[in-house]
Amino acid sequence: MTTADGGAVHDRVVIVGGGPGGYEAAHVAAQLGAHVTLVDSDGIGGSAVLTDCVPSKTLIATAELMAELGGAAELGIEFSDHAGDPATQLSVDLGRVNQRVLQLAADQSADIAARLERDGVTVVRGHGRLDGPHRVIATLPDEREEIIEADAILVATGAAPRTLPTAQPDGERILTWEQVYDLSELPSHVVVVGSGVTGAEFASAYLSLGCEVTLVSSRDHVLPGQDTDAAQVLEQVLTRKGMNVLARSRMQAVERHGDEVTVTLTDGRTVTGSHCILALGSIPKTAGMGLEEAGVSLDDGGFIQVDRVSRTTARGVYAAGDCTGVFMLASVAAMQGRIAMWHFLGDAVAPLDLMKVSANVFTEPEIATVGYSQQQVEAGEIAAETVMLPLSGNARAKMQGLHDGFVKLFCRPGTGIVVGGVVVGPRASELIHPVSLAVSESLTADQLAQAFTVYPSMSGSIAEAARRLHRV
Ligand SMILES: Cc1cc2nc3c(=O)[nH]c(=O)nc-3n(C[C@H](O)[C@H](O)[C@H](O)COP(=O)(O)OP(=O)(O)OC[C@H]3O[C@@H](n4cnc5c(N)ncnc54)[C@H](O)[C@@H]3O)c2cc1C
Repeated sequence: MTTADGGAVHDRVVIVGGGPGGYEAAHVAAQLGAHVTLVDSDGIGGSAVLTDCVPSKTLIATAELMAELGGAAELGIEFSDHAGDPATQLSVDLGRVNQRVLQLAADQSADIAARLERDGVTVVRGHGRLDGPHRVIATLPDEREEIIEADAILVATGAAPRTLPTAQPDGERILTWEQVYDLSELPSHVVVVGSGVTGAEFASAYLSLGCEVTLVSSRDHVLPGQDTDAAQVLEQVLTRKGMNVLARSRMQAVERHGDEVTVTLTDGRTVTGSHCILALGSIPKTAGMGLEEAGVSLDDGGFIQVDRVSRTTARGVYAAGDCTGVFMLASVAAMQGRIAMWHFLGDAVAPLDLMKVSANVFTEPEIATVGYSQQQVEAGEIAAETVMLPLSGNARAKMQGLHDGFVKLFCRPGTGIVVGGVVVGPRASELIHPVSLAVSESLTADQLAQAFTVYPSMSGSIAEAARRLHRV
């Protein structure tokens, strides 16, 4: 690479952290001709691939099939045992499920590592820290140190599960979400503490897998922060299927006594189960990395402060992903990492636009969202017209025996431009895409309505909702 006057461009990029924020940035930087070194301590793919996103969605794939099979009788399917007698119960071999989960995660990590190698990225296995804004020191597994000079550094070190002194995981019965894949047998009663996205996903998955589940929520409803109608539908479905949802219940302590765990709530009540999963949020992995000494500002929670092109307060130091706390999703981490490299290496770059991020809660049913939310509309942040259409009227849903869920769209009054949407239903993560496209490209509700949908299809409800927003 050269500059306009023919001089050499400084192009040594050092990335600390090998999750989606880091490895996607490495691909972009290598594509743009930079010399890229990636330092990672725990395995390429990061938490996203090895402990969080990929393993949980693989577990949920089994849970999803179990939930579908649970609705088989309505569609006229009966199960029988070897003797031909009706079988009353389906069961899951959690040991086999978890083996598959861990194998799939390891394979995915190996695929990403192989692609980095093909791209010419130098991967250093070690723990990285900054020595000023232009040098990274990697402590290797044998304790030796490697000094790597950099023209630009990208910090993408992710986050770790939050625990409390009164609720310490033991890896056997009191578990973080990273430890659940060591279980070889289905727990008899899981108490999930925390009703945010992670807590709701695990509670829903273990319920479908056949466990008794209690969900401890400190708020009025599960999924605070998500669309209220969507959270209500989810809570109705979960309780109908037998989950015990404890609202307005704050955990004070979790203790193990032999084969039991007891969760004590702040009001003195207790819940006893066989296992407890802690889903108390995440803390950024930014401590002891020489960040502040290098001029990188952290907020009160330890998250790295970045602008919309992933710059930190130190010139030449960028940050991406969960360590920034901007929007804790693998897709956002990857985009922040790519943006950082496009920016540093002088390619065309658009700042991160959170209003275009589509997100999904992988519960049963799923909840997918994009753009402005109902809360933002109600708070007057944007003027929007709203339509909400239950899926129960959709022909395909009836054929498939689906009773829960809806499509909700928000569009600007006057122009009719679609500014947001919510889909609740099976595979909502796939159904949200046309809405995401509309939000991203500023399409009007009429344009969304006019594109053909297959009959019968669930996506027909998206077009129908858009038609209801038509104004003459
Ligand atoms: C249970 C769960 C399920 C999730 N499911 C989804 C989902 O379905 N879809 C989605 O989009 N998001 C999901 N997420 C969020 C997603 O996992 C994160 O947003 C994503 O992992 C962030 O990527 P990252 O690159 O910032 O960090 P990470 O994936 O955490 O990677 C960071 C890497 O850096 C390494 N590292 C840390 N410190 C150092 C250091 N000093 N030196 C060297 N290496 C270091 C870490 O070991 C790790 O390998 C889920 C999260 C959880 C908890």
